[in-house]
Amino acid sequence: MKKFDWIVVGGGIAGISISEILTREGYSVALIEKNKKLASVATKEFHEWVHTGSLYTLMKDEMKTLKYILGSLDDILEFYSSFPNMNLQPTENGLKIIEREKNWFNQNYINFKYRLKNRKFILTWIYSIARSVALIEGIRQHDWLRRRAGILESVTARYYLPILKNFLKIFSSNKKFFQIESTDFTTNSRLLLEDLVGNSIANGLEIFTDNELQGVSSDNNVITARTDKEIIVGEKMAICTGGGLEKFTNIKLKRSYAPIAVVKNVPPATKSFVELDYFKNKCINIVTKGSSYGMIGGISLSEKKDVEKYFNYMIEEHKKINSNIEVLEKYVGIKNEILNKGKGEDRNYLFHITESDKFKNVWSIIPGKFTLAFSLAPEFFRKIYKRNPKKHFKISTHNNDLSTIIENTVWGEVQSRKN
Ligand SMILES: Cc1cc2nc3c(=O)[nH]c(=O)nc-3n(C[C@H](O)[C@H](O)[C@H](O)COP(=O)(O)OP(=O)(O)OC[C@H]3O[C@@H](n4cnc5c(N)ncnc54)[C@H](O)[C@@H]3O)c2cc1C
Repeated sequence: MKKFDWIVVGGGIAGISISEILTREGYSVALIEKNKKLASVATKEFHEWVHTGSLYTLMKDEMKTLKYILGSLDDILEFYSSFPNMNLQPTENGLKIIEREKNWFNQNYINFKYRLKNRKFILTWIYSIARSVALIEGIRQHDWLRRRAGILESVTARYYLPILKNFLKIFSSNKKFFQIESTDFTTNSRLLLEDLVGNSIANGLEIFTDNELQGVSSDNNVITARTDKEIIVGEKMAICTGGGLEKFTNIKLKRSYAPIAVVKNVPPATKSFVELDYFKNKCINIVTKGSSYGMIGGISLSEKKDVEKYFNYMIEEHKKINSNIEVLEKYVGIKNEILNKGKGEDRNYLFHITESDKFKNVWSIIPGKFTLAFSLAPEFFRKIYKRNPKKHFKISTHNNDLSTIIENTVWGEVQSRKN
């Protein structure tokens, strides 16, 4: 029986990015996925929103999430620039998105609308906006040629004056919203995944779809994965099963429910936007990509029972902006993150790599965000092999139609069904 260097379980962005970095380095990898296609759970339902930190300038966690996210942009530039469709370019004044024939990323920055109406005297909110806007400007102008962005320190003196100026400007505004263009944008995630999977296959990846891991055992440095159809053996294992992680590890997940709707009749010029509010349950967003379709959502809820109420609220709010929009499909995406212990928000958006306390050479992985996979995979490699993965390498082109093994996104599927 063939013994793989690695068994990777779970074919979402976590399992795909880990498989790619390992096969890039010449390791033999078996990728096991329980569904018929890869990227068929959270990595299918997500918004395709690339976080560059803008949203997390509002988070009260001493900028930890913001720094992780900026770190993932550093890592895309450092470890993924060999992919021809990776179209981010570092400049002295921010990241440039180059338009090519095929692009991982779209030059369609997401507008941030901070609610002011009836909120003007919540001074902590006005201060949060002022700080957020100043930090976003810092991200926009970051010198990516000379400094890694992820090392950003706390709010330093250079931000004090901009924050004060923003505060006065926002406080004296009579508008319903204070609006800026953020540094966040969208991804063509299926192209990105096809490139990662295609390169991995060319480097020897073996994919076992329709195989559900049922048990793991370890003996004499051999890990055995028992699925409902196969026995697969390897030297090491990475478990990337998203919501299915608790079955094989001691990790406690925090689940939250994200109500999403795919809508049509969106004027093609509509830019993606998020309405941000002091009251979290009043936030809404729409992600667009230049067609007449959009994906609306806004928040994630701790309790399933609150989902229907929020669905009604967000659809009503979007109809106030554009009464023609029509809901084509509604679903509830489930976000799986590590449970945050202690005070503050119980969601933890960071990626986590945890060594099993039960089996030697078995790790469990949570990416936290799609965007963080680009830091997760190189960091996983560094953790195991104590060196960096290759930064420059030859990409093997693939002519196979990978849509037969990679699921479309939900909103991509709805669009192709309706066209
Ligand atoms: C509604 C929603 C919107 C989001 N929007 C964004 C966004 O815009 N930007 C962003 O950066 N992040 C976003 N996220 C977060 C991001 O999508 C997730 O963090 C990421 O996709 C999780 O990837 P994953 O590989 O861990 O999980 P998944 O994609 O869920 O993959 C896990 C895989 O493991 C498989 N599996 C489970 N159990 C077994 C088993 N026993 N045997 C074999 N296979 C198994 C599953 O079938 C699945 O394919 C969003 C998440 C949701 C839910």
